[in-house]
Amino acid sequence: PDARVRGMPVAGALPARFDGDVLVAGSPGYDEARTVWNGTVDRRPRYVVRCAGPQDVRMAVRVAQEVGLPLGVRCGGHSAAGHAVPDDGLMIDLSLMRSVVVDPGARTAHVEGGALLGALDAATQPYGLATTAGIVSHTGIGGLALGGGVGWLARHVGLTCDNALGFDVVTAHGDLVRASAEEHPDLFWALRGGGGNFGVVTRFDLALHDVGTQALSAEVDLDPATGLRALRAWLAAAHDLPTRATAHATVWAGGPLTLGFVWVGPPDEAAPLVRALEDLGRPADPRVEAMTYVDLQRRSDDASGHGFRRYGKNHYVSDLPDAGLEAFLAHAGAEAGVVTLTTYGGAIARVDPAATAFPHRSTRFELDVGARWEDPADDERLVAACRRTAAAFEPWSIGAYVNATAEEGPAGVRKAYGDATYARLREVKRTWDPDNVFRLNQNVPPA
Ligand code: FAD
Repeated sequence: PDARVRGMPVAGALPARFDGDVLVAGSPGYDEARTVWNGTVDRRPRYVVRCAGPQDVRMAVRVAQEVGLPLGVRCGGHSAAGHAVPDDGLMIDLSLMRSVVVDPGARTAHVEGGALLGALDAATQPYGLATTAGIVSHTGIGGLALGGGVGWLARHVGLTCDNALGFDVVTAHGDLVRASAEEHPDLFWALRGGGGNFGVVTRFDLALHDVGTQALSAEVDLDPATGLRALRAWLAAAHDLPTRATAHATVWAGGPLTLGFVWVGPPDEAAPLVRALEDLGRPADPRVEAMTYVDLQRRSDDASGHGFRRYGKNHYVSDLPDAGLEAFLAHAGAEAGVVTLTTYGGAIARVDPAATAFPHRSTRFELDVGARWEDPADDERLVAACRRTAAAFEPWSIGAYVNATAEEGPAGVRKAYGDATYARLREVKRTWDPDNVFRLNQNVPPA
């Protein structure tokens, strides 16, 4: 075996060729590899196996089982719960597998399992093409796409998972298989929403769309104490906006109510929406900013940067009655954090709820509560404050986004999927991972 993998006790069982690296505590890069986005996560894998390709991944999946170590899979490291990093386990680190190859004629992108979203946009935008990705470019495609994948294009072209044409997957048995509409359709179904439960995806094949390279953001700040009427009107109009537009509303603790939308496409075509926002916001003037799509995708990168201590909670909600809107505005008086409503509908809602493992097709809004801070002494207080804020919306909660769950445990995962999807996922899990090798995730136990 390659000298670099001799450090692992199972080296004799390894194939002769291993192209990646194995890091242990003290190796250069070890601390960087185990450090994830959420600063409250501090775990130490026994081995960090940096795979260079699918064959390395196959080996790592087998080795973890031979040695009996918990197995984690890391792409962008943005799981808020830090699921990717197993304490005293084996972490497959996909950071050497980040290439994105675009076929502009076929309008497809072949994306390696460790790629970050910024690489996807950078590769597709020179052709005026894109597919739905999240709103922060340092997020990983791996976790995001497998759990659904929501972003500024979702109302227009569907979730990231709706644009998945096929996956190359290393299964719990260490086999490399293809999942698509034609091959292993049960696995193909489960990988579109079912998260990291079914294997390590080494390649995503994604459909691209001609969306151009332009975008626009418009926002207006209002006083939350007097904002009810404007908020109600904005959310009522949100679903009927053209699908290139995604309306949102935000309340900051101690801060303003911000209403706005993001538009992907030629900015002048968004003029009627800007006027609607101006009318709502009077006498305040909206901030209107035209930008490239790539800049739009990066504009929250710093505010959502690494290293802070973080906590978040999420609900899917149907239309909020006035009591819900008042709870939203009341967050202005809370101790910390921010609450955001983002509109769904459009292409998201046009997919049959049973067609993929992302069932929440009829949700009207995603509601996210989040806070960030630096001092560990604030952990308990600020987590409690976020939980209180989130609890206020329970009466209108019809589910949750599985990628935004963290501490909710099995009940939270079940709620996020709903009974029918959860039961079907458990059946697929029994076929592909009966021993629950892939369990450090939003776990679906085998049936
Ligand atoms: P990781 O922590 O690396 O992985 C999370 C889990 O995904 C792993 O434990 C593993 O189970 C699985 N996984 C990752 N890669 C693979 C792979 N190749 N094969 C198999 N399993 C894999 N979500 C949205 O939908 N839209 C957004 O706009 C959005 N914005 C976000 C912004 C920030 C700043 C953050 C922190 C999160 C955001 N999210 C968003 C949520 C995001 O989808 C999840 O946090 C997701 O888990 C991140 O994926 P990752 O690869 O970066 O995380």
